[in-house]
Amino acid sequence: MATVRLSLDEVHALAARCLTANGCDAENARAVADIVSAAERDICLSHGLFRIPGYVASLRSGKVDGSARPVVDDLAPAVVRVDGKGGFAPLALEVGRPPLIAKARSQGVAALALNDIHHFAALWPEAEALAEQGLCAFAFTAAFPYVVAAGGRKPIYGTNPMAFAWPRPGRHPLVFDQASSALARGEIMIAAREGHEVPPGTGIDSAGRQTTDPNAILDGGAQLPFGGYKGASIALMIELLVGALIGDKFSFEALAADNNDGGPPKGGELLLAIDPARFGDPEGFAAHAELLFGEITSEDGVRLPGDRRRRNREVTARDGVAVDATLHGKLTELAGG
Ligand code: NDP
Repeated sequence: MATVRLSLDEVHALAARCLTANGCDAENARAVADIVSAAERDICLSHGLFRIPGYVASLRSGKVDGSARPVVDDLAPAVVRVDGKGGFAPLALEVGRPPLIAKARSQGVAALALNDIHHFAALWPEAEALAEQGLCAFAFTAAFPYVVAAGGRKPIYGTNPMAFAWPRPGRHPLVFDQASSALARGEIMIAAREGHEVPPGTGIDSAGRQTTDPNAILDGGAQLPFGGYKGASIALMIELLVGALIGDKFSFEALAADNNDGGPPKGGELLLAIDPARFGDPEGFAAHAELLFGEITSEDGVRLPGDRRRRNREVTARDGVAVDATLHGKLTELAGG
């Protein structure tokens, strides 16, 4: 595969240019470019520059307001809401983070509900940002209906990711971030683009038969949850948390409301933040957790979630990132040459 090497600053500038050239204001473009370049920096390619054509499509179609200014609403001592006003998620997340942190510190536990946003990214950035402030964090969002219920053939759940982050004073937080589907949809799209198969258990074709052909899954087929009915239940929980609980859309409602422009769905996101200093071991929780991490990683070949990304950060800071040449050409065009 031919690639073009870019520094992280060049990735950021290219992403921002694509967005501002297509109707996004500077602040929203900067917020999205921050997230896109963080994904490239950590080599999470399915949520990096690969997503820019989708962001642009949703600006061009008018589905997303690229000049949206999110509005904060204090709902309860431990609950804050941000109305994203139909914009992209990153700016709404930035606006909601300080009140969420303040509430978690004062109440011990707090929630941030984001409504009327368009989320097209990984969840680890928002969970990690809270853990960097000393909090334990959860993040949930839904998507379009791509994943079947246990035993089903009809796509009903989104690939519904959840992220968890644990603060490690003086170190990179522990973070995991995983879709409820066996494979993230972006990975299936990349497999289709690059012409390779996906692992068994990823999805079914339009006749309900398991297949490793990414095109058969994407065109009329469906994705399978990870771990059978257990992953399906996680996907169900996330639908309830970001749909019924916070007053936003289930994945199937997001699809019904969508204009099929290929961009992100309109929907909600829920973040939970917990201050370990307000629980039973304020002085010792961090060292206690390190004891567990040490036990886990004492075994050869075992690593903590998030370690791959942390290591990638060191490499890309030095070497930059390799961007698929076809994608780079397309982005240069979207950015206006
Ligand atoms: P992966 O299966 O690649 O990884 C899931 C998690 O497991 C990561 O935190 C990863 O850490 C960790 N992990 C992987 N291998 C190991 C291992 N051997 N030991 C310990 N930990 C390990 O992610 P998914 O494909 O499930 O999800 C990809 C992304 O897609 C997520 O970021 C998710 O947020 C995003 N997504 C976004 C959606 C949206 O609508 N916005 C919808 C669905 C998914 P590490 O990173 O260090 O490898």
